[in-house]
Amino acid sequence: RKVQILEVLGASGFKDVKKTVGEEGRLIDFNELELRIQKDIFEREEIIPAFKHLNEQLIAETDAGLLQAPKYSELKERVVPLSVPHWFYQLSETNQTVYQRDHVWPGWVIETMGRMAAGDLQMAYLKTVTGTGLLGDGFDVMRILYQRDPDNIAEDELDSINTAVMLDKGLILNAPWMFGGKSVGSIGLDTWRAHVLAVKRLGIQYDTGEGGYPTCFFLNRKGEPIFFTEPDMQEIKSYFEHGRHYTVREIRETISRNGFSAESHPRMFRALEPYPELQPFLFYVVIDSEHEPFISTELKTGLFGVTRETIKKARRVVIAYSQGAKMGIGGHILAQKVNKLVAYLRGVEGLEELNLEVIQSLAERIERLEKQADHPLHEVAEKFYEDIIKSQDSGTILPELKTALWHIQQHAYALHSENALDPIEFENLMQLCEDVISHSYSSIISPFPFHNCYSIEDVKSFIDMVRMINPRAVVSVKVSPSVDIEFIAAGLARISRDITLEALQARERLPAGTGDSALESAEEYAKKYGLKIEIWLDGPRGGTGASPNIIKGQMGMHIEYAIPLIHHRLVKDGLRNHVNFFVSGGIRTYEDVIKAVALGADGVIWGTAPLVAIGCDRNRNCHDGCSRGIATSNLIMQNLRDVEKNAQQITNAFLILQMQIIRALAGLGLRDIRRLRGRFDKIQWLGLKERVDFRRRQIREYRERYSEIADKLHPTGQSNCGVAAVIGTEPVPSYILDRALFAMKNRGMDGVGVGKTLCFPDYPEHYAYSIMVRGLLQNEVEEMLATSNGRDVRRHAREKLLAYRNRLAEAIRTVFLEPVFDFTGETSAEKVREWRKRDAEGNERDYREFGNEHTDPGDIYRFFVRVKEPVLHQFIEEQVLSSERYRYIREYFPEVTPANYREHARFLQKAEDLYVF
Ligand code: SF4
Repeated sequence: RKVQILEVLGASGFKDVKKTVGEEGRLIDFNELELRIQKDIFEREEIIPAFKHLNEQLIAETDAGLLQAPKYSELKERVVPLSVPHWFYQLSETNQTVYQRDHVWPGWVIETMGRMAAGDLQMAYLKTVTGTGLLGDGFDVMRILYQRDPDNIAEDELDSINTAVMLDKGLILNAPWMFGGKSVGSIGLDTWRAHVLAVKRLGIQYDTGEGGYPTCFFLNRKGEPIFFTEPDMQEIKSYFEHGRHYTVREIRETISRNGFSAESHPRMFRALEPYPELQPFLFYVVIDSEHEPFISTELKTGLFGVTRETIKKARRVVIAYSQGAKMGIGGHILAQKVNKLVAYLRGVEGLEELNLEVIQSLAERIERLEKQADHPLHEVAEKFYEDIIKSQDSGTILPELKTALWHIQQHAYALHSENALDPIEFENLMQLCEDVISHSYSSIISPFPFHNCYSIEDVKSFIDMVRMINPRAVVSVKVSPSVDIEFIAAGLARISRDITLEALQARERLPAGTGDSALESAEEYAKKYGLKIEIWLDGPRGGTGASPNIIKGQMGMHIEYAIPLIHHRLVKDGLRNHVNFFVSGGIRTYEDVIKAVALGADGVIWGTAPLVAIGCDRNRNCHDGCSRGIATSNLIMQNLRDVEKNAQQITNAFLILQMQIIRALAGLGLRDIRRLRGRFDKIQWLGLKERVDFRRRQIREYRERYSEIADKLHPTGQSNCGVAAVIGTEPVPSYILDRALFAMKNRGMDGVGVGKTLCFPDYPEHYAYSIMVRGLLQNEVEEMLATSNGRDVRRHAREKLLAYRNRLAEAIRTVFLEPVFDFTGETSAEKVREWRKRDAEGNERDYREFGNEHTDPGDIYRFFVRVKEPVLHQFIEEQVLSSERYRYIREYFPEVTPANYREHARFLQKAEDLYVF
């Protein structure tokens, strides 16, 4: 339980449980959320025409590029029949129950994916598919409202339906999906390569996760790489063949033959020095140049393995703001899965360790060889025995030990190649030499609070950096669904829009005939130099078995809520087509894709499904190795994989999935996946409306029954509201402040600021302007007096202090507030001071009776103010209606001009909010 609490704290960015006090604003109120979604979105069908209009606009912008996307009949032809990846379907009923424990991926959903992976074309018919799991809510209780039977539609008609979508910079996805980040280490190299081969065949993207960009390696039999640098590898890779073994000598000779020498490329030759000449290495290509257009990379604050080169190479760069299934603690890989290859890719170093047991065995073995004068290794054993003993005695790795190991292996390999050494003896000796020095690694983690960026400005800096290094990369920002996710999404969309506007403005400033003169239209120019961010919403139900359950199940907003909120917010703010919006987190079947898009996404991202397609049965041991050789860095376990077959299984599964989507679209009466976006009228969320209406009725009845009592409990006047202060250099819309105030309610009053809420029903139109005045402190005044003792000193000091603070408050009012504000109600400091807690006789209590004795809380003076009319008008004319800073406000009020603004009450109200806050 403690670990779970730590995980939740970490994911929420808390360093100490005490800091959670008063942070109820971070809790997601699902009742309120459901109310909003049901009443503000689903029951307002009049907003659908606006959604449809935006979909048509999107199609008009991107249609031309999608003409090459494969048709239904072509997809069918590419499917290759194979064996199924799992066999548990044949288990008895009793054993099947094991597979029903995973509510996201129960056995029958795994079986569906397995049959698709096997290329069973019957699975293209929707009646054969089990489309939902056992969640009992969300996607699993939504129904798709078909207009006609999707299984009874002619292939000709299916051929005319489009599932392709276009991302920024002309990047086309043949289907409305991509594969999400799984780093090398979290899954094995063979599984990785299977994904790479599959995404090329499918015409989609796969992202490296936070584990670096795996291109190609020379691997020893333990899977450890020669430490060539990535640029060096790129220079020499074309001289070697994937899947072949090369000795160190062969590697050296090959690169020398091709113009590399120890003088021209010393670093390259130095990398080979630690290895015996005849040691063989497997050349393994994970991502070749032909695959690069289909690979994205992922950037987090840990920057593990991400370099300028990998960003340059990537067609799409994901900036991971946070991660849904491991919110706040994502991007980590536990120590037991970190090996030399993983460490190499992530650019971290391990510690060399002398294995004392192995060196003991090695010393005994070498001693035996030394005593056998006729043994082919006698000479080398005699020469290096002392060095081994020296290291053993000191318990440390001496340089002599490394030299000894190199020579022993060198001789053994030479003898082995001439069949002059018993093969078993050779194997044993090699094993000992390789195991004497091991490496220990710690878990690799981008820990909170560094894992997440904290502000839109931070993300903007990342985006600028990526665009500077690789202007043709699609920029994706991965966010998890926190309580304020719709505003984060709107902020990201605003970045897209502003960058595009800036590009267009720059174009206008170009002298005629300069710049990119081939781009005649503003649209073309905006596409090339502007930005359309991809928002990747990573929800909590996804993740492999490495993700903590508590977070997968309980943290963050499930995507069925987050998608409509984000889509609606983006449409409302006029920003929807400035971004592409993809979601992940528990997407398993074609039904989930249809539902996610109908709720407002452009497409989805798959993490677990491709693993299920190659044999994962969700036994959830991914953090600790994997009995199927999938989520493992152990090369021996990876022998269970067959890369080519796995690549085709993934390809089959997703081709058939695409065919299912086409059938579903046809059944819905749509010819293009892009027309489904935001069409919540095409699905039905069973039980949502009933739940929401029931709760509303309950609340109404409760209020009616208890309103009298509530009035007595809370007589008019200030409730216990807190005060929000937002400080920044960027304009903050007032609705965000309203929400901030709302979120901070009931925190207690100990600050200074301005509020305009319903806390003060007597002054609903006024701003409550509260000032905390301290100057001198109670303790200081008491020390100054120090004449008598006990309560008298306190009382006396308090009187003096109050007189002093009242004077200060009056001065603040007259100097700072009166020139710009009209006041209502009392204004004398004495009368507007807020009383502290009182005792039974109504006397104010000393703060030390209820607070920290060293922290004098000061005194609060509250005025009710409105901005003076001339001041407000001057502010509107000089700032709101003319400065760059307030351009976004003008977009909300396109009809307002300097000539007519006095007649627009809502605008005046907004301007006054802006002025005051
Ligand atoms: S089989 Fe088990 S350990 Fe392997 S990837 Fe699947 S859930 Fe993880």
